[in-house]
Amino acid sequence: MRIQFLGACRTVTGSSHLIQIGEKKILLDCGLYQGRRDQSRAFNEWVPDSLKDLSAIVLSHGHLDHCGKLPVLVRAGYEVPIYCTDATADVARVVLADAGEIQQEDAEYLNRRQRRPGEPEVKPLYTVSDVHRTAQQFRTVPYGRIFEIGGINVALHDAGHILGSAYVTLEWVESGEKRSMLFTGDLGRFNTPIINDPSPIQSRFDLVITESTYGGRTHGAIDQIEPQLLDAVQTVVTRQGRLIIPSFAVGRTQTVLWYMRKFIREGKIRPINIYVDSPMGVEMTDVTERHREYFDQQTRDLFGQEDLFGHRRIILAKSSQQSRQINSDRGPCVIIASSPTCEFGRVLHHLKQSLERPTDMVLFVGWTPYDTLGRRLQDGQKRVKIFDRFYEVVCEIRTIHGLSAHADRQELATFLSPTCSPETETWIVHGETDQQQALAQLLTQKGMGRCTIPSLETEVYSC
Ligand SMILES: [Zn+2]
Repeated sequence: MRIQFLGACRTVTGSSHLIQIGEKKILLDCGLYQGRRDQSRAFNEWVPDSLKDLSAIVLSHGHLDHCGKLPVLVRAGYEVPIYCTDATADVARVVLADAGEIQQEDAEYLNRRQRRPGEPEVKPLYTVSDVHRTAQQFRTVPYGRIFEIGGINVALHDAGHILGSAYVTLEWVESGEKRSMLFTGDLGRFNTPIINDPSPIQSRFDLVITESTYGGRTHGAIDQIEPQLLDAVQTVVTRQGRLIIPSFAVGRTQTVLWYMRKFIREGKIRPINIYVDSPMGVEMTDVTERHREYFDQQTRDLFGQEDLFGHRRIILAKSSQQSRQINSDRGPCVIIASSPTCEFGRVLHHLKQSLERPTDMVLFVGWTPYDTLGRRLQDGQKRVKIFDRFYEVVCEIRTIHGLSAHADRQELATFLSPTCSPETETWIVHGETDQQQALAQLLTQKGMGRCTIPSLETEVYSC
């Protein structure tokens, strides 16, 4: 068998790994690289020659850095089955449609504003119609059911990362011997709201491809999140202010909403307006509501047959007009809006309204990258620029850690422990180099066989 690493090598986006067993080629994930514009375009347009005669794609989950390049392959003629859970198919449809619209708008903008006479027209990486063709290739499979791709037994298991997320197991016979592989996709934390915990692996695998996003970090305890969130809401209610929560649209928004819903239900806060202001956040909230079969026991016990997000005080703002109306609510209220970095998205309009008000609070739910408005606020900068105006930061800024959708160092090691054995070969992907090295060291201490950090296009043979 042969593995070729085609993305998420020493970085956290562009997940894609090609597995070849005999004549069969399976691509595990096909993610978009999200970095500097020029580098991203080159990587994202690239269709490696090695994909020729591809048999199938197995998709771990619907985040853009795992599924965002699928339409590029479909556009290039690779109309092969894409296996995933039904929830992942729904998440990916929303995420890809949004990406297709952005690609089209970007190309139009560049052609209108930056193209010089005589220069070729900028084409979008893909369009919404490419996304529709891609969605037709989805073949949905429930967790735990073994399906066959040319003699290779494949199964998806709950990864506990976002709705529908899976880790992938493959089993086959090569030269008369049974072989097995584990691909973690993105692994979630234990005890997160709404979705189930990662389903434990039962046995040793010969080969492992593991993510390492937080291979060197330890998250805050998950049971500290609820009291911190509650305190933030109660504080703004007392001050009659607005609580702005910059958030990812997929996963994080629904998690924060779940806590808000719980606080209202348990009478810990009086009912106040809770807005979700992000078109994709609203769609993802609908998708989550439609897939109740993925809810964990805690959520079932708490809400029974009630709509999870159907409370009259939860207001989903999809249109820009609905978004503008939120500005007239002076509080107390909660506004969950994208993006988490505060570099773009509707959250900027709410920050403009709230930064200079002492009654209001901006609550970050995780660290944002360096050199973003979100990070400047987290670092305590007292004067920031939004669009073309400077704002004095008078409102309170807080950060809650631990709401990550990724397992931390110890959680990754615990999950992988049944396969920590000298016979296991492991490749560490989907992480910055320091995180990868830290995880390699920890797994080696725990008895794992060879741990390798592959670079892009590295090919390995194992038999
Ligand atoms: Zn992910």
